[in-house]
Amino acid sequence: MPDSILSFMSRFNTIIIGAGPIGIETASALQKAGLKTCIVEAGPIGATIASQFPPDTRFFSSPDRLAIAGIAIPTRGQEKPTREEYLAYLRSVVATHELDVRTFHEVQRIERAEDCHRVEMHMRSGQLTTLEATNIVIATGGTGKVRTLDIPGEQLPHASHDLGDPHQYHGRRVLVVGGRNSACEAALRCWRAGAEVHLSYRGSDLHERVKYWIRPELAALIEEGHVHAHFNTNLVEITPGTAMLQCIDTNTSIELVVDDILLLIGYEHDSALLRNVGVTILPGQGRPEYNEETMQTNVPGVYVAGTATAGTQERFQVFIENCHVHAHRIAAAITGSSPPTDPGERQLEEN
Ligand SMILES: Cc1cc2nc3c(=O)[nH]c(=O)nc-3n(C[C@H](O)[C@H](O)[C@H](O)COP(=O)(O)OP(=O)(O)OC[C@H]3O[C@@H](n4cnc5c(N)ncnc54)[C@H](O)[C@@H]3O)c2cc1C
Repeated sequence: MPDSILSFMSRFNTIIIGAGPIGIETASALQKAGLKTCIVEAGPIGATIASQFPPDTRFFSSPDRLAIAGIAIPTRGQEKPTREEYLAYLRSVVATHELDVRTFHEVQRIERAEDCHRVEMHMRSGQLTTLEATNIVIATGGTGKVRTLDIPGEQLPHASHDLGDPHQYHGRRVLVVGGRNSACEAALRCWRAGAEVHLSYRGSDLHERVKYWIRPELAALIEEGHVHAHFNTNLVEITPGTAMLQCIDTNTSIELVVDDILLLIGYEHDSALLRNVGVTILPGQGRPEYNEETMQTNVPGVYVAGTATAGTQERFQVFIENCHVHAHRIAAAITGSSPPTDPGERQLEEN
C-alpha cells in the first residue's frame, strides 16, 4: 500500500492533548459524533488530580457537577468525591466509552503539515513518536507549573510544593506557606497527623473562601495555640534547619526552626504548547484567544478546552463544572452542527 494511503488510514480526525476530565469529555463527544479521536496524555489519566491532590482530598463540587460524558459518579454516602473515587471514575468513563487514550505521551511540538497537524511526543521509555490529525484540541489544564517564591533555599530537599501523604509529617516541625484551601487543608491534616504546624500567610487572616469544612476547625486550632499562625508575613529565606519570615507591617524578622517547608501557594498556566502552535496569548491576561462559540483559536483547526482556556487564574473561576459545554461546542464546530446553548455558569469557591 502506498505511504500516503497508510498515513491517511492512521490519521485521526482529532487529537486531544490532555486526559483530564475535560479532555476525556471532549473525546467522548467527538467519538459519539463518529469522529476518529485519540487523547494523548503526558502522565496517567487525570494526571493533575493524581499529582496535585494529596491522598483522600475531597472535591468541593458535588458529584453531579463533576460528572462527564453522561455517566453518574457513585460515591460513598452520596458525598462529594475524593481524589481516589474521581480517578477511578475517570478510568471507568474511558473504559465504558472505549476511548483511545495514550498515557505517558508528552507532546513536545505540533507542526502544521500540508493538510494536517503533526503531533510529536516523548513516550515514557524516552522514544519519540508522531501522530497526525486534522484537528487538535489543547486541553492541557491551567496548573502546569508550580508558583515559586524565588527565595534562597527554595530548592532544598525539605522544601516542597506538594503536601503528599500527611503521614510522613508525624513528629516533625512543619511550616506551611499560604492561606487558601490547599495550605489550610495541609496545615489541618499535618496537625492531625501529629506534626508541630506553623502557617505563614501574607494576608491578615485565613482566606475567606477556604472550604467550610476546613476553616472553622483550623481557626479554632489557631485560636487555641495548637497551630501557630504567622499572618502578615512573607517567607524570605530557607536554610537546612530554619525558615526566615519577614513581618509585612513592622519589617521585623521571625526565625522558625522547622524540619519541612510546604510551599502551597498555587500553580501557573503553562502556555508553551499553545505558543508553539501559534495560538495568540492575550497580553495582560495570559490566556489563549479563542472563539467562545466554537472554542477554535486563531489557528484554524486548533481548539482549546477546559481550564487551559483561562491562563493562570488568580481567583479560580473556570473549573471542571463550568467547562462541560466546551466539549459540545467543539463537537458542534467540527461536525458543522449548531452550537449548544450554554448552561448557566456558577461561581465556585477558590482552591
Ligand atoms: C486540591 C484541588 C481541589 C480541586 N477541587 C476542585 C473542585 O472541587 N471542583 C472543580 O471543578 N475543580 C477543582 N479543582 C480544579 C480541577 O482539578 C481542575 O479544574 C481540573 O482538573 C481541570 O480539568 P481539565 O481537564 O481542564 O485539565 P486538567 O485536569 O489539568 O488536565 C490537563 C491534562 O493535560 C496533560 N498535559 C499537560 N501538558 C501536556 C503535554 N504537553 N502533553 C500531553 N499531556 C499534557 C496533563 O498531564 C493533565 O492530565 C481542584 C484542584 C485542586 C488542586
